[in-house]
Amino acid sequence: MSCIFCRIGKGEVPATKVHEDELVVVIRDIRPQAPTHLLVIPKEHIASLWDLENEALAGRLLQTSARVARAEGLERGWRLIANTREHGGQEVDHVHLHVLGGRALGPMLPGSHAH
Ligand code: 5GP
Ligand code: ZN
Repeated sequence: MSCIFCRIGKGEVPATKVHEDELVVVIRDIRPQAPTHLLVIPKEHIASLWDLENEALAGRLLQTSARVARAEGLERGWRLIANTREHGGQEVDHVHLHVLGGRALGPMLPGSHAH
């Protein structure tokens, strides 16, 4: 299995995990864009949000995002991002949600550029 997030989910590749249960793992992004930058990842391989048909799992990912944001102390607010497919700038083809916070994020999306 070459998918990096599948390997992290199975514990084959190290990552800093902040939460793990039977369905979901949450890790710190290796290239953080904010003081808190977490990735909420289902253990099942699903390519992107486009392909996420399991409503219960979708709900679990959303709820887990809010729980880890709370655990990180992000009372002042945070942002949830799902880069999806080519135009969405998705780099890892295993669905994941970015939880970003710890600073004012501004109107622009991470990695985007003002023109
Ligand atoms: P996206 O696919 O939404 O563009 O972003 C993928 C994210 O995964 C990036 O922010 C990148 O830094 C992160 N990432 C890629 N490979 C690894 C890894 O091996 N470990 C961790 N912790 N994060 C990773
Ligand atoms: Zn995968």
